[in-house]
Amino acid sequence: MARRKLIAGNWKMHKTVAESVGLAGQVATELKNRQVDVLVAPTALALAAVASRLAGTPVMVAAQNLFWEDHGAYTGEVGGPLIRAAGASHVIIGHSERRQFFGESEKTAGLRVAAALAAGLVPILCVGEALAEREKDQTEGVLESQLAGALAGMGAAGLGGLIVAYEPVWAIGTGLNASPEQANQAHAFIRSWLAYRFDKKVAKATRILYGGSVKPANAAGLLTQSEVDGALVGGASLNVHDFLGIIEAI
Ligand code: PEP
Repeated sequence: MARRKLIAGNWKMHKTVAESVGLAGQVATELKNRQVDVLVAPTALALAAVASRLAGTPVMVAAQNLFWEDHGAYTGEVGGPLIRAAGASHVIIGHSERRQFFGESEKTAGLRVAAALAAGLVPILCVGEALAEREKDQTEGVLESQLAGALAGMGAAGLGGLIVAYEPVWAIGTGLNASPEQANQAHAFIRSWLAYRFDKKVAKATRILYGGSVKPANAAGLLTQSEVDGALVGGASLNVHDFLGIIEAI
């Protein structure tokens, strides 16, 4: 069965609760393409309100991160069961901004993936190389160590619909996107690694999204690649017309 495409919007640290609810409502109301899954990731603060606005619509909700403990004295953190109870179905894990600004590692990404699965959330695991790594031809090694670290100890049966997002760090928020061929090549590598580490069935079923300066103008080229199952969109997801433009490009 063909993998259904997914377009996910990562709103990062943007928009008040009211603005988030407004944008979510616009996305749901103006969405025409029902052949594709759509998901938005507001701030943790807006999660419950956005989920409530989107209830009964096809648009799903993701958290941008989660802590690996369920409850407890962890000031400032939010765990999987709280995220699930707020109405989210997915959670972004290991985004390069988390790795860059908050010291996250393969190990903490792995703890978060396990916590997400235990809470019934679908993890969207972000991996990707920095520019210097690409220039030194280290892309595949970086992807392999990020995947292996975050998925250590996992079995094929327990992956819960895991989604991988290939996000070359040099393309995030920079206006530079990977070419469709570069994206497809990295996705093919990730898929072959999944087959080697788990099995062919997992490799075939796992959706691999591309992220990094996806815009309406470059979306079709990227999204028509055989190994690209959708997009994780940052900046362009904050504008309803750009976000829907990407969705309609499929
Ligand atoms: C992202 O934050 O995951 C992202 C891909 O951002 P942008 O689309 O702005 O490059």
